[in-house]
Amino acid sequence: MESLLLTDGGRREFLRGLIRMDGYEIGVRVELPPTFPLCLAKVFIDSISPRVERRPHILTDGRLCIEAESDLLLDVHDPWGILRETLVRAHRLLHQILTGDRAAEFARELISYWKGSPRGLPVPCFVAPDDRPRLTKALYFEELLLAVADDPREPARFSPDFSRLPPCTLRNAIYIPIDPLAGDPAFHPDKLATLSELRKYVRALPSRDGRVLDKLLGRSGKHSPLVILGVRRPEGERALVGIQFHDTRGGHPLAHEGNGGSVEKIELQRRDAPFLASRGGADPHLRGRKVLLAGCGAVGGYLAMALARAGVGSLTLVDGDVFELANTYRHVCGIARNGMPKVFGLRQEIERLVPYITVSPYQQRLEAFLHERPQTLDSHDLVIAALGNPTIELELNRRIWSSHRNAPALFCWLEPLGLGGHALLTHGRASQSPARGCLECLYDHPVRGAALENLAAFAKPGEAYTRDSFGCGGRYLPFGDLDAQNTAQLTARLALRVLRGEVEGAPLQSWKGDARAFLQAGYEVTSRYESQTGAFAETLAYIRPDCAVCQT
Ligand SMILES: [Zn+2]
Repeated sequence: MESLLLTDGGRREFLRGLIRMDGYEIGVRVELPPTFPLCLAKVFIDSISPRVERRPHILTDGRLCIEAESDLLLDVHDPWGILRETLVRAHRLLHQILTGDRAAEFARELISYWKGSPRGLPVPCFVAPDDRPRLTKALYFEELLLAVADDPREPARFSPDFSRLPPCTLRNAIYIPIDPLAGDPAFHPDKLATLSELRKYVRALPSRDGRVLDKLLGRSGKHSPLVILGVRRPEGERALVGIQFHDTRGGHPLAHEGNGGSVEKIELQRRDAPFLASRGGADPHLRGRKVLLAGCGAVGGYLAMALARAGVGSLTLVDGDVFELANTYRHVCGIARNGMPKVFGLRQEIERLVPYITVSPYQQRLEAFLHERPQTLDSHDLVIAALGNPTIELELNRRIWSSHRNAPALFCWLEPLGLGGHALLTHGRASQSPARGCLECLYDHPVRGAALENLAAFAKPGEAYTRDSFGCGGRYLPFGDLDAQNTAQLTARLALRVLRGEVEGAPLQSWKGDARAFLQAGYEVTSRYESQTGAFAETLAYIRPDCAVCQT
């Protein structure tokens, strides 16, 4: 490569040269951005000879989309090395552009080529792509397209910027899945915005889908000239782009008897549940799962939020308490919901932050809730108790084991003063091969008084670790926000594995914290605490062969 070093107005330096490869001669300009050498240089393609008509990975200003440097560690002391790496990457990409499957590259990059009219922002899209043509809905304010949605209630429900909209008009739109790569080795995104070419792709649908589409095009009427295309990418999943037809006469422009019309590209901003969940590291398959959470205090609050953020679609919250200022520093809701019942405040906080979740709040104690709804334990996929009340938790444990229809249960609790926390899973009789092990096994003499007196305990039994702020009724267990978060995280990870069917048996997991504050207060730890070496203890062998609950 010939190179010539120039300075452009003293601001930007660039190299200019020619690359000869694969029978082409390519005029290249390499610019050093102001932040160089903290990034790769920018490569612009000034010319390609002989001319190549449609070139993927080259932006309108000629810039080559070389891979980002996020996978690279750049040595800032070696700018020439960074320049060399830039050119190696540019060379590799140019080879791919000139000799590779350009149609596949265009399909892969479709969204970046699909720029709508400069007047508008991308239209929020609540359509989940699938493989069949169908009707979906478009929301208009007068003639302005506000959103497209399979369920027209979803924009207002799951997007804060839609909660205060004027009344919208609903019109039908048509979702059409197409696979342009299947029949067109010269595919280019511009072809989708050309009515005659678009008709060819639509006519190439499998005959069954074609018949369905014909009916939809006949039904949709002249007021809905909006089409959402689910364009199959080389990897198999679909990219979504929109098309608004204008100046249509007679039938739908895509119908056999359609007369034509002009085409406007509509850029879509995907907000559908499967897309947002996958993109954000949540599990879209958990949307159909239903979890009952009893106890919405510090641990329960974080747990509920963690399950929502993991993609769980339905949460039932049970707690009789009201938020008090004393909860401020260790609750996921902080001071924001002071005075509200915890279940309602937590629901508001979850719905404020996480879309596509249904939260059902019940402001009552668990025992009353179960009394009124005896079937509830078999209508959920998992029951979690974060009550800080072993008496009620043992009762729940007995209930879980009383019927083979009941969901598995997960119990979690904290040690005082940051010593640690625990989570115990019991499957009850629900699993195919009932796994022994339950909360009752942990207590060799149930109801002996001290709350944490069980086989898993880190704090020595026989002490009252709760503290008293104002006398009667003000007792609380001292622990900090991070202790609650740790316990919630341990429990949430176990819960997600249960919901995915990955856990057999009845594991008891613990996390071990720092004993300094606990020892300074004059307390003693158990030998279990002392024998744990890591921060997390995988499983305690706790199952009792004479347990009255799980061994019968
Ligand atoms: Zn047991």
